[in-house]
Amino acid sequence: MNPILRDTIVEINLDRIAHNVRKIKEMAGKNVAIAAVVKANGYGLGAIGIAQTIMENGGDYLAVAALNEGLNLRKVYGNYPILIMGHTPDSNLLYVVENDLTQTIFTLHQAKLLNALGKEYEKKVKVHIKYDTGFNRLGFKDNKKSLEDIEKISKLEFLEIEGIFSHLALKNDEENKIQYEKFTKALDYLKAKGVTFTFKHIADSIASVDYPQYRMNMIRPGAILYGLKGFHKGELNIYQAFTFKTKISYIKELSKGEGVSYDYLWKATRDSIIGTLPFGYADGYPRNMRDKGYVTVNGKKAPIIGVICMDQCMVDLTDIGPVKEGDEVIIYGDGTDNTMSIQEASELAQTNKNEIAARITMRPPRVYVKGGKIVKVTNYL
Ligand SMILES: *Cc1c(COP(=O)(O)O)cnc(C)c1O
Repeated sequence: MNPILRDTIVEINLDRIAHNVRKIKEMAGKNVAIAAVVKANGYGLGAIGIAQTIMENGGDYLAVAALNEGLNLRKVYGNYPILIMGHTPDSNLLYVVENDLTQTIFTLHQAKLLNALGKEYEKKVKVHIKYDTGFNRLGFKDNKKSLEDIEKISKLEFLEIEGIFSHLALKNDEENKIQYEKFTKALDYLKAKGVTFTFKHIADSIASVDYPQYRMNMIRPGAILYGLKGFHKGELNIYQAFTFKTKISYIKELSKGEGVSYDYLWKATRDSIIGTLPFGYADGYPRNMRDKGYVTVNGKKAPIIGVICMDQCMVDLTDIGPVKEGDEVIIYGDGTDNTMSIQEASELAQTNKNEIAARITMRPPRVYVKGGKIVKVTNYL
């Protein structure tokens, strides 16, 4: 087992990941495949560290945003199907083919390039077609010319068009329906031309839970794998699967009137006990948490005081009771026991839950726990 090279860590509860995936699979039913979205290094939890648990508990496919994320997983997992949902530049397509990744395409141009590479490497290259029904990010625009191009792609000998997908803007029920109907109309047209797909998908986490009618035969959940609940209509019994924690590095007593951190933006209004914690904005903690953020020590909330530094911050421990250097500190928990949940952190930092998780940088080691025991430690640095 690797040593844990720092006190500030992300602890991942693999039992909770397993539980969440099983619940998602249960919800979707056996006829709907799960493309588990582990982009952005598994939303900060470490894609490699969680992929096996996901795939052994109901995941059917791994989905990432970018080629390098796919290659990172492929190095460790030789057999899992991996979908790159984003664009790969032409010059890098050979790595897709060499490593048996599934590439999203939305131009005839890239289809032809991949087909040529397939011929060269003597293999069928798997692709999913991205079809844009209104999000206006990536995808074939919804028109006749695009459908004709997709038909041409379907005839390329060294390509296997395994899937086709779109993405909902989730504006409202009415707009969702318009997008979905554009998609199914395109699918009907293609079917009439003899072009069919193994996987058809349009639903992310929120859509999968809130709009069962749009699950088709594959869903692409990200947030809910990790226990992040953005849905509001449906129900899904999942748990936040990670904790961001650290330990107190230093404790000191301050006299009334003394300042703390840059510009002395916090000043002691009474004699105080101040703790220094070894995490800062370079670990992905939002710098705008100043005067709002808190951590949890011994089940009690300790406010973050003064400017949050790159690598450290200070907390007021005066009202916490007996504490000592080395005591455990919860930065983000699951909201129980006075901890700050990812939901609350996102509100305080004025962003969304996915960003709070994904912005945690490579500096904190990832510590994987199963059955209450540490089973793996990853130090990226
Ligand atoms: C990120 C992403 C998802 C997963 O999003 P969640 O909201 O985390 O479920 C699904 N599909 C695509 C295309 C994505 O980029």
